[in-house]
Amino acid sequence: MTELFLSVGQFHKIKHMLQKFLNAKKATNDKDTLLAVQGIIEDEVKQAMTHIHSVDNILTELFHVSDATSAELFLMQLKQHVSPFPTPELTDIKKLFKKEKKLKLPALEDVDFKETLYLSWADVGTNKQYIILAKNDEFHPLSGVVDAKHIKGVCAFCKRHSTTRLFTTKKKVSGDLYVKNSQYICIDSTQCNLNLTEIDVLEEWVEKMEK
Ligand SMILES: [Zn+2]
Repeated sequence: MTELFLSVGQFHKIKHMLQKFLNAKKATNDKDTLLAVQGIIEDEVKQAMTHIHSVDNILTELFHVSDATSAELFLMQLKQHVSPFPTPELTDIKKLFKKEKKLKLPALEDVDFKETLYLSWADVGTNKQYIILAKNDEFHPLSGVVDAKHIKGVCAFCKRHSTTRLFTTKKKVSGDLYVKNSQYICIDSTQCNLNLTEIDVLEEWVEKMEK
């Protein structure tokens, strides 16, 4: 059996570092500059993968990547070892969002769970966005409304420049009193997931709503 020793976030970290390495190789022929970049990459990868014994092998392979074809092959092999986001059943999803009267279900067959740190889908009809996190063998839901306006900006989740929209969640405190939380997030949650190596912002948000 293939050992699933990499989290999706770690896999994405390696992907980003590979891109950085290839960009540096394209930009310079200077050996010292390249070695300096390799040093930075090595530190970052090791920091993200402290408990993984094969990290040195992974780095050696990464630094042998020379073009798009070998990059693809390297990532394909590595992806076999990625522990995917657990696929929820539609019944799980209905239970998680049982307060939603007209819940739109996601097209799970379109999701690559080995590239997913948070599961998200929107309902354009109602301007609702649904998010599921998986933590400690449990799913955690988050739902809110999204603004129709698209804005070029920085996404609160992945911290990258992208086309975003305001996502607002609301929590009842007592009676008619609500606490709102709003942030601009990527419209394209598939791309947002690819940008992500960790989801601390999302986890904090979910925690705040669950309290
Ligand atoms: Zn994003």
